[in-house]
Amino acid sequence: MDLIELSWPAVTALSKDTPVVFPIAALEQHGHHLPVFTDSFLLGEIIRRAKESVGDKVLFAPLQWLGNSDHHLDFAGTLSAPPRTYLDLLNGLAENFVRHGFRRIVFINGHGGNDVPGKQAIFELRQRHRDRDDLLFLLGTYWNLGAKPSDPSLQQSEMGHACEWETSMMLRLAPELVGDYKGAKPVEQGMAFAPAAQGWITRERTRPGHIGSPHLGTAEKGEHLFRTFAQGVVSFLERVASAN
Ligand SMILES: [Zn+2]
Repeated sequence: MDLIELSWPAVTALSKDTPVVFPIAALEQHGHHLPVFTDSFLLGEIIRRAKESVGDKVLFAPLQWLGNSDHHLDFAGTLSAPPRTYLDLLNGLAENFVRHGFRRIVFINGHGGNDVPGKQAIFELRQRHRDRDDLLFLLGTYWNLGAKPSDPSLQQSEMGHACEWETSMMLRLAPELVGDYKGAKPVEQGMAFAPAAQGWITRERTRPGHIGSPHLGTAEKGEHLFRTFAQGVVSFLERVASAN
């Protein structure tokens, strides 16, 4: 079900155990070769595919394209809700549907910078409603939901930024929006002090804007990644829908 297509009485008539999904993404620089809307394009496609399987038991809010992208602000075109603003935004979206009586609120995330404020938001929501025992607040990032890509031609083992994975998916989805990815030189993905967390800004990790290996992208890899990640989202949402 798509929230944007329903009347308010139709929303009222839904079972309040229907999972309410907020897809959350971003509009931010993605190197020289990918458009700034990449995260929103990719999550939108994964949600579109997931809806084909679980669209009858899950209520999908429209994709929230404004994310927390402050770390990319040295690159033109990036739009960002600062971290605390974004935290309030996610809290507010969830609270709206708690007010409407719904009990299962799920953020499906498609952007790394949303992870920390997203987890903080669901933490705060649960504490705020600690007198309730019937509420479920969840956040899952689509590439970390358990479904692992298995195409042996993939060189990267984890998500980067405008990297082999994202470039491949954009080549599958909208090749006309992909620039010269073959000429993009690989940029190291690791962080010097891992596994400790480090405060970072993007320009200290990459000059061109990408992190990873865009030149390895292919549309075939992109299809594999879309299929894998959409299946991961579907399995997760089925678990949420059938939970007691
Ligand atoms: Zn991205």
